[in-house]
Amino acid sequence: MKKTLSVMLAILTCLTALTLVSCAKCKHVWDDGVDVIKVTCNVDGLKTYTCIHCGQNDSRAIPATGHNFSTELYSDNGYHWQECACGEIKDKEAHIDSDGKCFICNRKFYTGGLNYTEIDGGEAYAVSGYSGVTEKCVVIPATHSGKPVTEIAKDAFKDSYGLISVEIPDSVTTIKTGAFVNSGIVKLIIGAGVKTVENKAFEYCMNLIEVFNKSNQITVKVGGGEAGAYAQNVYTKYSGKSFITVTDNGYYIYEDIAGKMVIAYSGNEIELTVPDGVTKIRQLTYYNDTIKSVTLPISLNHISSGTFKYLNALERVIFLDAEGWVTENEQIPSESLLDQVTAKEYLTETYWRKNWMKN
Ligand SMILES: [Zn+2]
Ligand SMILES: [Zn+2]
Ligand SMILES: [Zn+2]
Repeated sequence: MKKTLSVMLAILTCLTALTLVSCAKCKHVWDDGVDVIKVTCNVDGLKTYTCIHCGQNDSRAIPATGHNFSTELYSDNGYHWQECACGEIKDKEAHIDSDGKCFICNRKFYTGGLNYTEIDGGEAYAVSGYSGVTEKCVVIPATHSGKPVTEIAKDAFKDSYGLISVEIPDSVTTIKTGAFVNSGIVKLIIGAGVKTVENKAFEYCMNLIEVFNKSNQITVKVGGGEAGAYAQNVYTKYSGKSFITVTDNGYYIYEDIAGKMVIAYSGNEIELTVPDGVTKIRQLTYYNDTIKSVTLPISLNHISSGTFKYLNALERVIFLDAEGWVTENEQIPSESLLDQVTAKEYLTETYWRKNWMKN
């Protein structure tokens, strides 16, 4: 009897053990999942996850993210609005004119400092020159003294290194030879009415990042002739994917999806601190004899070649994060960069021809 009991107990223990083993469910650990339907601003997504232990699948709905509208206002000649990266816009409304610029979005309707010449027997005007030394972002008006502005004259903006952006109105039909040759423009908007861009109009515009070509009568290609020769992006319509803003202390910052880039400095401080959040410096100033030090923010991850070369009075460069800098394959030891004088020498002498990147 005792024996039977112990056998039964043994069997029971065994069964329990077996049951326990077969009952022990896998504690699933899901992988990153695969999109079955990609989630967008207004469409729910569906993702399938796979357990990395047992291979079981599980599908889950991902709710639509909703639009993420820009806080900055996009604008064209007539309106300003907010825009989501998907292209959806909201709150589009007409500008409210206040002293030549919009009261809401600050867009300028035209820029002072432009010179004009009468053309077509006095029926129209050409922009013939530029004396706006302090004005780096130029908006050319569609009319001047009651007549249409239809031409950008030969060499009008030639050698204007300080120029940052130019918006050409729809009234302009012709951009003459050399009009922007060797200028510093970063962003160019070509009006819808442009029919002719003469040879060499944009030659040596090496700083160009974006060309918005609203005209369907001319073509602009990235890396192709003329306006697109040096541009990184050419768009066929102006949808305002970038902003150029000027900070209170004089930094011109170009901002797009890739980050914030300093493209110019027009202040007169001697000890500069590049604003936090800036990811790239492409230019500070050309030939400066007063700047003594530059402090670089933690957010910075790219310094273009030559940026510091012609800051002739520069003594120190202060890296708030000296780790991980490379110049086109060569690692720069952080100990060297932490020495402010060495950092300055590296940027103005040893490695000045290189692009600096942080990894
Ligand atoms: Zn599992
Ligand atoms: Zn959206
Ligand atoms: Zn506005």
